Amino acid sequence: KSLNPNQDLELTWRNDKNHVIHPYANFENFSKEGSTVYAKGHRHFIYDQQGQKYLDGIAGLWCVNIGHGNEELAAHIGEQARNLAYYNTFEDSTSPSAANLAAKLASLCPGTLNHVFFGTGGSMANDTAIKMVHYYFNMLGKPKKKKILSRNLGYHGSTYLAHALTGIASTHIGFDLPKDDITYLSTPYPYRKPEGIDSHSYCDYLIDEMETKIIEIGADNIACFIAEPIMGAGGVIVAPEGYLGKAYALCKKYEILTIADEVVTAFGRLGKMITSKEMFKVQPDIMVLAKGLSSGYVPLGATVISSAMHEVISRPKADNPYFSHGFTYSGHALACATGLKNIEILERDGFCEHVNKWGPYFKEQLTTLEDLPIVGEVRGSHFMLALEYVTDKKTKTSFPMEVNIGKRIYTASKKRGLIIRPIGPLNVLSPPLTYDKDAIDETIGILKDSILETV
Ligand code: PLP
Repeated sequence: KSLNPNQDLELTWRNDKNHVIHPYANFENFSKEGSTVYAKGHRHFIYDQQGQKYLDGIAGLWCVNIGHGNEELAAHIGEQARNLAYYNTFEDSTSPSAANLAAKLASLCPGTLNHVFFGTGGSMANDTAIKMVHYYFNMLGKPKKKKILSRNLGYHGSTYLAHALTGIASTHIGFDLPKDDITYLSTPYPYRKPEGIDSHSYCDYLIDEMETKIIEIGADNIACFIAEPIMGAGGVIVAPEGYLGKAYALCKKYEILTIADEVVTAFGRLGKMITSKEMFKVQPDIMVLAKGLSSGYVPLGATVISSAMHEVISRPKADNPYFSHGFTYSGHALACATGLKNIEILERDGFCEHVNKWGPYFKEQLTTLEDLPIVGEVRGSHFMLALEYVTDKKTKTSFPMEVNIGKRIYTASKKRGLIIRPIGPLNVLSPPLTYDKDAIDETIGILKDSILETV
């Protein structure tokens, strides 16, 4: 049976509807509408099967950093596939691409983050990070240190554990997530800080709350703190200045390991290859990478740990000499070759410089939309931006869920040839890093018309 969905739209729709379970599916809507079948991409443009052209304002899903249809990367992927797509990297096996990508990541990541465990995406990389942290404290003879500090609205993935780390409560409904050992700290959300707290004291307020929680739980029971440098899927929320540094200092004080979830923020989206140190001046114990690591051309994720952690987890242990953690696709030759070439292209072609040049213009132009009646706040940084909609700017009253304001503006924009991401009462922009002045200007124009049409 030969299926080529690129040639038969009706067949694609039928097979999709009857057989595909979509991620984050709304089954009710899904049964009513046929999916858009995306068939081709070039730089920051994407085309559906009926030939409609769109500006891809979200880089697929925050990930196609070098842009769609990159011939050089595609050729490299083909060549690697012809040579060797896959062999396991268990025990004494490796591949040049796994070894070289690990070395490259060690050189990019700050401090002694020199040891890399590969997987296929961000969720798996976060699961790996937590397993490594627990294993580390067991090796140190501190088996009580198991609890995890995460944050409300933090997003860390969708496997059982990564979903539990995710502090978006509405997504937990219906699942029995393993949350007993997880404490969700307050979202560092300047636009919605508690009443009576002014901007100057907000950071200290959050840090005091964190320390109170640590004392309450007992530092002896806490293993790690996981945080995105800027929250992504929770709504592109930028913490008050100095927050991350102070949170990390608390972790150091109480011997709590820090996990930087840079799945979205790394590889140029904020104008830096890795943001923790370069932008936020913090040194994590563990770095979690995915998405822009391979620009989404193939699934790839990485957990990078410090030399100090590596020394502990690699100590001999009497009952089982193995660190018994590994996936078939850990160190996948094709995926790692893709990651290496992708990084080479990002660096060689000056993507960070481009984002540093156009990021401020993008934000500035987007901020002009704050003049529209429902745009409560435009926020974010560089190529990671969002608009939050409110019914009343003074009271910052949110739209009722059932109005689905983000989705409605997404639909209006899509009709005009722009894809943005709806997240509740928000729209997110996270385009390929090829986005240029023309694309930015067109995006702002379409967004403005779409918001005005929807109000
Ligand atoms: N961490 C962050 C910050 C993310 O944004 C995501 C995905 O959006 C993940 C982890 C999970 O990555 P994946 O979907 O590749 O498992």
